[in-house]
Amino acid sequence: MVKDIGIDLGTANVLINVKGRGIVLNEPSVVAIDTKSGRVLSVGSEAYQMVGRTPSNIRAIRPLKDGVIADFDMTEQMLSYFIKKLNVKGFMSRPNILICCPTNTTDIERKAIRQAAEKSGGSKVYLEEEPKVAAIGAGLDVFQPHGNMVIDIGGGTSDIAVLSLGDIVVSRSLRAAGDKLNSDIANYVRNKHNLIIGERTAEKVKMEIGSVLKGHRDETFSVRGRNVVDGLPKTITMTSDETEEAMHDTMQAMISAAKDLLSTTPPELASDIIDRGIVITGGGALLDGIDMLFSEHLKVPVMISETPLDDVALGTGKLLDHIEKSN
Ligand code: ADP
Ligand code: MG
Repeated sequence: MVKDIGIDLGTANVLINVKGRGIVLNEPSVVAIDTKSGRVLSVGSEAYQMVGRTPSNIRAIRPLKDGVIADFDMTEQMLSYFIKKLNVKGFMSRPNILICCPTNTTDIERKAIRQAAEKSGGSKVYLEEEPKVAAIGAGLDVFQPHGNMVIDIGGGTSDIAVLSLGDIVVSRSLRAAGDKLNSDIANYVRNKHNLIIGERTAEKVKMEIGSVLKGHRDETFSVRGRNVVDGLPKTITMTSDETEEAMHDTMQAMISAAKDLLSTTPPELASDIIDRGIVITGGGALLDGIDMLFSEHLKVPVMISETPLDDVALGTGKLLDHIEKSN
């Protein structure tokens, strides 16, 4: 009988890890609603297909978009939908649920997340902060008296944290991550090529040819959109170096935040980080050149997690084991 489930309630993706089964659900954090009735039409992958393509009576929203819970009611409905999809009540006897939420969530939001999980069939509900669980999932042993540093670049937020003895010692949360990089690319294409592109097209450019290191990747991509000048469809060719230019300022903001955090890190832990390095996780870790960019500016070794998109979900599994042992 399944007893424990872990949920990564991310700004871009929700993942659910069921003990003994692994990651059983991985869907975008999107809800499509009927604007007239307010009724939820679809959730997750199905709703994601609608982003940027909705007629006026349907709206596709990302309730956690900026890392804070922008739309609480929708977050709750989305969470309940995903938990129901697992059929918790059917095959599990009231599982323990560990939910990871963004670092900026308020006490009221946490309370409501907890209630949603309880209503959906959870017995004990634990809440944890994402960077800690991401670090555990990425394979760092955060329970030892050593300094570990993790940079989690998600959709809405980049979380940078130094951990020791199982807890966050210092951290920063930046509302600049994958979504901001997409809009950077869209703005760049508009200004430089007079082409208007959607959020999803920009994301595709970032994933297919994007790089944060000048001269490191040499690829091109045909980008389609609407011509600013005559309003007609148009195609341009974009290069990897152009994506670097587009994303440059946002990457610099992440580097400054990391430097700032290092400067407030207790010296013993800072010295551990020089030895052990920094681990980058979250979808943003897949950006070409990101390890070199950070190590060049921070002067410490930088590693990319092997499973950046799954780390929080994997971390919940390990943390639930830990909680169980200590109870
Ligand atoms: P969250 O935890 O906020 O839900 P994720 O860790 O799931 O976020 O990461 C989602 C972000 O990662 C999105 O902004 C997405 O564009 C970005 N991403 C995913 N794959 C890649 C890739 N190959 N290259 C660059 N960015 C990526
Ligand atoms: Mg995340």
